[in-house]
Amino acid sequence: MKIRTRIAPSPTGDPHVGTAYVALINQAFTKSQQGEFILRIEDTDQERSTAASEQAIFDALRWAGIEWDEGPDVGGEFGPYRQSERREIYARYAQQLVEGGHAFVCFCSRERLDDVRREQQANGATPRYDGHCLGLTPAEVADRVAAGEPHVIRMKVPVEGVCRFSDGLRGDVEIPWQQVDMQVLLKTDGFPTYHLAVVVDDHLMEITHVLRGEEWINSMPKHVLLYQHFGWDMPLHYHLPLLRNPDKSKMSKRKNPTSINYYRDIGFLPEALLNYLAMMGWSMPDEREIFSFDEMVAQFDLDRVTPRGPVFDMEKLRWLNGQYLRALSPDDFRERTLEWLLGNDRLARLVPMIQERTERFSDVIPQVHYLLGDRGDLRAEDFTPTRGSTEGNLRILYHALACLEETDDWTSEALYGRLRALADAMDIKIRDFLAPLFIAISGQTTSLPLFDSMVFLGRDVTRVRVRSAIDALGGVGKKATKRLEREYRDLTG
Ligand code: GLU
Repeated sequence: MKIRTRIAPSPTGDPHVGTAYVALINQAFTKSQQGEFILRIEDTDQERSTAASEQAIFDALRWAGIEWDEGPDVGGEFGPYRQSERREIYARYAQQLVEGGHAFVCFCSRERLDDVRREQQANGATPRYDGHCLGLTPAEVADRVAAGEPHVIRMKVPVEGVCRFSDGLRGDVEIPWQQVDMQVLLKTDGFPTYHLAVVVDDHLMEITHVLRGEEWINSMPKHVLLYQHFGWDMPLHYHLPLLRNPDKSKMSKRKNPTSINYYRDIGFLPEALLNYLAMMGWSMPDEREIFSFDEMVAQFDLDRVTPRGPVFDMEKLRWLNGQYLRALSPDDFRERTLEWLLGNDRLARLVPMIQERTERFSDVIPQVHYLLGDRGDLRAEDFTPTRGSTEGNLRILYHALACLEETDDWTSEALYGRLRALADAMDIKIRDFLAPLFIAISGQTTSLPLFDSMVFLGRDVTRVRVRSAIDALGGVGKKATKRLEREYRDLTG
C-alpha cells in the first residue's frame, strides 16, 4: 500500500509555526515510508480565506524546507487541491447523507439558534442544536427549499452511548455522543464545513495516515460517523501534540511569535528551525539534539512521537541556531549573513530612507541599526520621553496592535491611513499617538520615518515589537484586555 499523507492548512492569517511542525512530522514520516505527501488548502471559510495568505503559506513552508508532492501549486492526480474548487463534490455527498437518512435539512435562523443557545446556557446546559428541524416531512423540506428559503445540512448523531476510536498516539479513546453536536455539514453559502470536507477529501485523495494537531481529536466522533455512513475505510489517525508556551498554554502570539516569517525575518536559519521543531514531541533514538532532516527521516518512527505538549522555548531555539551558525564554514557564514542582511532588496529599500540623512558612510550604521539588528529589550523608563502616562501608552499600543493585526495592506500609506484614523477616533493628536510607537519600533525617541520602518521590518517583526513594548510597560491583564477589546470595537465601529 502506498502511504499517503497530507496537511490541510486554512489560508487565514499568517503561516503558523504549528503548521510547519505538523508538516515536518508528516513529511518525515512519508519520506521514511517512500510515500506521497500532499498539501491541500482548506479555504471553506470564505470570509477569512485569502489568496495572499495561501501564497504566504506556500512561501513560508518552502523557506522552512517543507516540500509536497501534490498541491494546488504543483498539481497532481487527485486535484483540485483547494476545497473551494470542490464544492459540487461535497454537495453530492451531503445529498447522499440526506437521502440515506443520516443528515437533514435545517432552516433555523441565526436568531433562533442564538436564542436556543442563550436559553441552554442560562439553564447550565451545554449549548447544542435542539433538533428543531428533525421532524420536517420530506415534502415540507422540498417546498421550502424550492421556495428559496436559506438552509444548511446537518448531520444526525446518536443521542446516547459512546463513540470509540483509536488514535495512533493515544490508543483507544472514548467520547460520549452526548458531547457531540448535530454538526452543520453544508452551509447556507453551499460551502462545506471542515468536518464534511476533511472526510470526503481524505477518502478521495486516498490518504492512509492523518497526522494532524490534537485540537481535532474531539471532532473524531463526527468523522468516525461520516466514514461509517459512507461505508469507507478510515485512515489511521494520529493527533500530534500542540506546541505550548512556557506556561503550558497553547502556543499563542501573545507569548511567542507564531508566524514562520518572524523567524525568517529575525535571522534564524531554516534548517535550525526545522531541527528545533523536530525535537517538539519527537526525539532521535540516541537523544541527539542536532540532526538534519535526512538523519531524522532515516530514524523516523511514529512511535517516538509523544502526545505530551512540547514547550516552544525561544532560548533553546536561539541556542540551537547559534550551534548551526557556528558550524558553518567561514565562507558559508559570510554568504548567508549577506543574504539575510542585504538579500531581498533590503539595501535598495533602505536607500530612500537614509540617503538624505547621510553625510558620511559611517552615518549609515547608527541610522539603520534597529532595522537591521535587534532593537534590544525595552524598560518602562524608555517611554518617559513620550510624556504620556503608562496607562495612556498601553492603551495606544494595545489599539495600534489590534489595528496592525487587521491591516493586510502593509504599505506606508495604508499604515499611516489606518493609524491616523485610529488616533482621530481616540481623539489623540497624531504626534502623541505615534510617540510610544516610535519607542516600540526603534527603541529610541528619534528614528527614521516610522511607517517606512514598519514596512521595512515587515508585519511580523513589527507586531512582535509592539507586543513586547506592551509587556515592557507591564502588560495588559485579563480584565483590561476585555475592556480594551470592547473599546477598540467601539472606536473602529
Ligand atoms: N484546516 C485544519 C487546520 O489547519 C486541518 C486539520 C486537519 O489536518 O484535518 O488545522
